[in-house]
Amino acid sequence: MQILHTLGDFLAYRNSVNPTLKIGLVPTMGALHQGHISLVQRSISDNDITIASIFVNPTQFGPEEDFEEYPRQLEEDSKKLDSLGVNAIFAPQTSEIYPDSNFIQFRIQDLGDRLDARSRPGHMQGVLQIVNILFNVIRPDRAYFGMKDYQQFIIIRQMAKELHMPVEVVPCPIIREEDGLAMSSRNVYLNPEERKQALFLYQLLNRIRQELYRFSETVEIRVLVEEMLDYYPLVKLDYFEVLDEERLTPVKSINNRDNLRAFVAAYLGETRLIDNMSLN
Ligand code: AMP
Repeated sequence: MQILHTLGDFLAYRNSVNPTLKIGLVPTMGALHQGHISLVQRSISDNDITIASIFVNPTQFGPEEDFEEYPRQLEEDSKKLDSLGVNAIFAPQTSEIYPDSNFIQFRIQDLGDRLDARSRPGHMQGVLQIVNILFNVIRPDRAYFGMKDYQQFIIIRQMAKELHMPVEVVPCPIIREEDGLAMSSRNVYLNPEERKQALFLYQLLNRIRQELYRFSETVEIRVLVEEMLDYYPLVKLDYFEVLDEERLTPVKSINNRDNLRAFVAAYLGETRLIDNMSLN
């Protein structure tokens, strides 16, 4: 496995790859867990070559967010990726990815005023910026994204479609801890009590899915959210939404809908966690 830290080295590697081979890309910010590993395994089974990128992208963090604290463990990550059979890691320096000032900004229309795009101003723009750069530099045939960041996946898929990018954007299922908590590099921030109460997100989604028959309109589900919050005093709810899972538009009536997805974001102390679940 090659570990490439500069654009020059990466492009030399990329240009040496036989053009008939299919390339899968798994973009990550590192601190790899089983969620990332599942994306890598899928890419390896679909493609001839798998490239993972590891880059903690500064432009997708807000000024008050955890860019500085974000866990960085390239050596450990490299060992994991090597043992899985990844062909190359692209782990560039920020100064090479963003050498000049930022003239180009993405603006996300309809999908940009809800969920994380609303709670984290500038976040999705930063994600689109780095994914664009990675697509241009790495030129993958397929790129793999986890449905844990569901809105991110929808927006990236839409970008690839609207901009006629020659890349297939592949969604992958959410990988969870044994008790149901969605795996996340940020889970390491949780103290033991926060870790227990972090189960709020999964428990809530699960309960809504099981008890959906009780409700005829999505607003009624709020009662259940409030009820659950009483049992999790450390949880500070950021958002809860039930949306159409294709277009991410609000849905009023539940009857006869089979493409609903519930989305939740919450703080445990300083740590912000997200999760979502299909209600079908
Ligand atoms: P990150 O390193 O957090 O930027 O995540 C890199 C990729 O891994 C993104 O496509 C995430 O959606 C995906 N991912 C993160 N956590 C999980 C998980 N628990 N299950 C599946 N995919 C995940």
